[in-house]
Formats: sequence, structure tokens, C-alpha cells
Amino acid sequence: MSIYVNKNNSFEQSETTTRECPHCGAHAQLIPLATPSFEELQRARPQHVGIVFRCASCNEPRFLRATVRAFEPERVELSMNLIEIERLRERFHYGYLVEDVERLLREAFDCYSAGCLTAFALLSRLAVDAALEKADPATRRRWQDSLRDVLQIAEVDADTSRALEAVLFGDSNVAPSVGPDAAAVLIEAVKDLFYQAYVRTAKLRAAMKVRRYFVDEALRNVTPIERARRDTSAKTS
Ligand SMILES: [Zn+2]
Repeated sequence: MSIYVNKNNSFEQSETTTRECPHCGAHAQLIPLATPSFEELQRARPQHVGIVFRCASCNEPRFLRATVRAFEPERVELSMNLIEIERLRERFHYGYLVEDVERLLREAFDCYSAGCLTAFALLSRLAVDAALEKADPATRRRWQDSLRDVLQIAEVDADTSRALEAVLFGDSNVAPSVGPDAAAVLIEAVKDLFYQAYVRTAKLRAAMKVRRYFVDEALRNVTPIERARRDTSAKTS
């Protein structure tokens, strides 16, 4: 399967490209917006070319790179293996976090997206430390237990689990070290930790508060006659 830039500059794909969009999150088709010219390709004969697409869902531009496979008299053949230039940004409910924690976590996730894994691990640790700065030792232990639970639920092997626990809760004088595989586990574990600590807690508190408010309201608005009627119907039903 290939992509062709034909002599008349038409752009031809043997099949459409569909990717998750970093802007809108939709799994949408990529529609060619700016493609290399046949004449320029024949003149410069590059190994790689850049193509601009637009997301069919949100219209944002998407920048991709393709390898040139062959220069033919009537067309230039490009590989279908398109490399995304713009990295996918990690999504999270940042609005629930306190400012310091939000800043560190955003930078941590950006480092992960950029493939800077030591920086990602280090910033994740700093985000945990910032979140637990004023917390008592029991809360810190609870976070550590939550991490263990998550790794156990996800059936992560013992060596990786120990290494990740050391990254987030270990000796702060020892620089964390994670490979791509451990980092892939770590990012999901970190998201879950912060989700539990901030997002889930806030949502749960709000939901309970609303329900209790309506129970209170209902009780306050019942007149003595209505209360007597309810009692009678409860007895007869
Ligand atoms: Zn989009």
C-alpha cells in the first residue's frame, strides 16, 4: 500500500488514513491539505517529505512525515507509514488539581510525550511530593498502597512494580530510572493515583452533597397534613 504524488501533482492514497486526533480526541480521517509537488520532488529527490493533513472532525492541521520509496517518470511513491510530527498530548482532568500539582503533572506528561523518560519520572515524583506536601504520613502511605493496588490489579510484574514504587516514593537522592516499558506502565499508574486523589474524591463529594441537599429539601417541604397522609398510605400499602 502506498501514496503517490502523480506528475499532474494529484495526491493519491491507496487507502484513507485515520488516526486519533491530539486536538479533538476523535478517531478521524486525515484529509490531505498541503502535499509536495511532483516537480520539486524530482528536482530535490529527498529521502523524506512532509505532508499537511487536516482532521476531518475538528479541521485542525496535522503534520506528518513520509519516506520516499521510488522516483518514477510518472509518479513519486511514498510509504504509507506516516510519522506524526506533532506529539499526542496526554489528557487529564487538570481542572481538579491545585495549581502547583497541575503545573508539575502537565510538564511530566509533556516529557512522556516527548520521550524524555527520566524527566517524566522525576516530574511525576515531584508532583506526588507537591500533592503530599502538607499531608500526614498516613496519607502518604495510603497513596503508596493505592499504587500497589493499581499495579496488582493490572497484573504488573514484581520487578517493574518495585521499580515504579521507588520512582514515586523512594529515596529522593536517587535519580529515577525508567525504560519505555516501565514508563508506559508508570503514566497510567500516575494518572490513576491523581484521579483517585483529586477527581474521584471531588466528584464523589459533590454527588453526595447534591443528594443530601435534596433529601433535606424534601423533608423541609413536607406539611403536617402531607406527612399524616404519607403515614396512612404507608400503613395501608
Ligand atoms: Zn481533530
